[in-house]
Amino acid sequence: MPHEAISVFDIFKIGVGPSSSHTLGPWRAAQYFLQSLEQKDQLFQVQSLRVLLYGSLAKTGKGHGTDVAIQLGLSGDDPVTFDVEQIDTKINHIRTEKKLKLQGKHEIEFDPQNDIEFLFTESLPYHPNALTFLVTLQNQQQFAETYYSIGGGFVQKEGEQSGSATAIQLPFPVDKADDLLHWCRKTGLSISEVVMENENAWRSEEDTRKGVLKIWQVMKDCMFRGCHSEGTLPGGLKVKRRAADLNRKLLNGRIYHDYDSWIGAIRAGGSDFKYILDWVSCFALAINEENASFGRVVTAPTNGAAGVIPAVLHYFVTFCDGYNDDKIVQFMLTASEIGSIFKKGATISAAMGGCQAEIGVSSAMAAAGLTEVMGGGQRQALMASEIAMEHHLGLTCDPIGGLVQIPCIERNTMGAIKAITASQLALQSTPDFAKVSLDTVIRTMWDTATDMSFKYKETAEGGLAVHIPLSLPEC
Ligand code: SF4
Repeated sequence: MPHEAISVFDIFKIGVGPSSSHTLGPWRAAQYFLQSLEQKDQLFQVQSLRVLLYGSLAKTGKGHGTDVAIQLGLSGDDPVTFDVEQIDTKINHIRTEKKLKLQGKHEIEFDPQNDIEFLFTESLPYHPNALTFLVTLQNQQQFAETYYSIGGGFVQKEGEQSGSATAIQLPFPVDKADDLLHWCRKTGLSISEVVMENENAWRSEEDTRKGVLKIWQVMKDCMFRGCHSEGTLPGGLKVKRRAADLNRKLLNGRIYHDYDSWIGAIRAGGSDFKYILDWVSCFALAINEENASFGRVVTAPTNGAAGVIPAVLHYFVTFCDGYNDDKIVQFMLTASEIGSIFKKGATISAAMGGCQAEIGVSSAMAAAGLTEVMGGGQRQALMASEIAMEHHLGLTCDPIGGLVQIPCIERNTMGAIKAITASQLALQSTPDFAKVSLDTVIRTMWDTATDMSFKYKETAEGGLAVHIPLSLPEC
């Protein structure tokens, strides 16, 4: 197998909630499909189009907005720039008119109710998240293209290598934690420095820094919005948003209209353990309530787990010493490398590995990032990552009603706290005495994933999802 080069910007992607594999991935697949049509000069020849959803995309696609994402992607909208406030308007327009403008250029008859088919009992062998675009051209010629949403917004076209990963030659190729440690030892560089050297193969260091800080800005905006948005979440479960209430309570009712004065006020509130714990929970809830509301979030490494890393970063920024932009970049680079090692050695797709692949991986990423910026060595950062995953092994995915709400939103608070605990444990430990390596826990996670019943892999057919049934409206 050729080395798979994964950049920090493959792991951290700006997108729209609620799911990287069920929303962002299918959205991207629709965009890739349009590109394919344009390359073949067939966009304007399309007469009709149907989309088939298989496996987990069929089973929990409604709750995850898969159909919405596909319509937006087919319309030529981009998840990074599309105004999320316009989603309902656009989708209602397509539904009532029964017409869709492919790439914003070529109008076809399209009734989402009939032309997007949820094949609840069918799966394709390569991956549980599969979708097929079935096209009829004006000359009545027909063809199909199948894409797989393989987790974290990564998409692979049938018959091709992973679409997002590139074949670039990196100075320090890393597949396993041991490879990473090898390069750190050989060069004397920290984990984030090794990653930055690799990122230089794609772009200048300055551009990487700018890109990472832009990601951080999106996380901050999302956090601030989530802490100041009231109401109930969409989807029919009627889950009340809690971050805004908690925010108000912790700040004794004071309202801050900009991010900096808000963070300043939180910081001024002290360092009592319960106070910090409440804020870490509030941070994680805020991001994931935004995610559940089709808000703009960053995959980290997935949407369902998008709150863990921003919550841990905000813990660092607000309650620890020494925060500056360099530390944010270090944190993100280190965390991204851990995410890519998990993707290569196991999976970051809940449809393949359950929630250990989402919350578990995000917690392991955050633990390593935090350990590095808190002054830990490379082996301590890897140890922190191992500890965080070790205590997520076997975590199942059973979202009620297929919505990324229960248990997902609270689960991000748990992932964040475990990351902080794991980092603190590693910082107080000597890695020489560790009995379990990061590579071993990744192998164990994969074994656990392959043994796990399909019911617990983002199908909403087991666990909480069956004990608290929900009849979702058809719209
Ligand atoms: S249970 Fe975990 S893996 Fe499943 S949708 Fe929720 S956050 Fe994602």
